[in-house]
Amino acid sequence: EKAEHAEAAPRIAVTKPITATEVKVNVSIPEAAGRAKETQADGVGLLRIEHMILGLNTHPQVYINTGRSQEYVDELVKGIRTVADAFYPKPVWVRTLDAPTDEFKAMKGGENEPFEHNPMLGMRGIRRDLKEVEHFKLEMAAFKKLFEMGYDNIGIMIPLVQHPSELRRAKEIMTECGIDLEKVDVGIMVEIPASALIIDEFIKEGIDFVSFGTNDLTQYTLAVDRNNELVADLYNELHPAVLKLIEYVIGECNKAGVKTSICGQAGSRPEVARRLVAMGITSISANIDAVESVREMVARTEHALILEAARKKL
Ligand code: PEP
Ligand code: MG
Repeated sequence: EKAEHAEAAPRIAVTKPITATEVKVNVSIPEAAGRAKETQADGVGLLRIEHMILGLNTHPQVYINTGRSQEYVDELVKGIRTVADAFYPKPVWVRTLDAPTDEFKAMKGGENEPFEHNPMLGMRGIRRDLKEVEHFKLEMAAFKKLFEMGYDNIGIMIPLVQHPSELRRAKEIMTECGIDLEKVDVGIMVEIPASALIIDEFIKEGIDFVSFGTNDLTQYTLAVDRNNELVADLYNELHPAVLKLIEYVIGECNKAGVKTSICGQAGSRPEVARRLVAMGITSISANIDAVESVREMVARTEHALILEAARKKL
């Protein structure tokens, strides 16, 4: 029979590791804000607004055509505010609309959506918002309202940019809409190889952060449809070409003092997090259920790197 003390569980304090690399969380629906907050993440690296809009089940154009634009704006304000509130004053990077045409088509009033053979290579992200400026302006009206309400923790993230002129035009429209770019963090998603290769030009144009959209960066770099099961075996976020693009961008951004992050699924894999920390990324945003394991890996990797450097010096 064992002695009583041998049975007692050891008392080990479980505390959140403190990391120099920020560990953030991705939020897809405002309803998840509470659970996301419980992860004690350092902020939100991606707040998607697609579900706030697709959830209305009425095409944005219908709101515009029927004089109900304010209703649409209010819905965005409500959704974004829920998350910005939960995390205040930690940063929440909100991505502007990025839904492909086939998803809009299913909505009420979506019959006029164009048919595209390759929606993933077509009208989505910033390219659509710059063609349908009226829609983009409604998003900006929502941001303006939130800034007026005092949410100075909200950053604006632009998806699918492939040329600095898109960033320039987007910022012009933001200014036209009364957004003070001096006070707001604006960043881009790096998810097209072209924008990774000319990241220096985006830096010159002026960005506060970049976030790797590895879901798309992988599909566009490897020419593998992310939704096609027939080629799913070729879809590899750790392909050397994908990693090389990421490493290059992190290096250029670190030289310029621009923050780097990842918001694609790969960021939820501890193995990927380890590599990104070693490359010098400044934050990682993971899914709610992956934040803890990623944070653990980030802490371990940081410790290992420090030790390695110290031992080399000796
Ligand atoms: C990505 O491409 O990695 C990303 C986060 O955006 P989405 O999955 O919405 O395209
Ligand atoms: Mg993407």
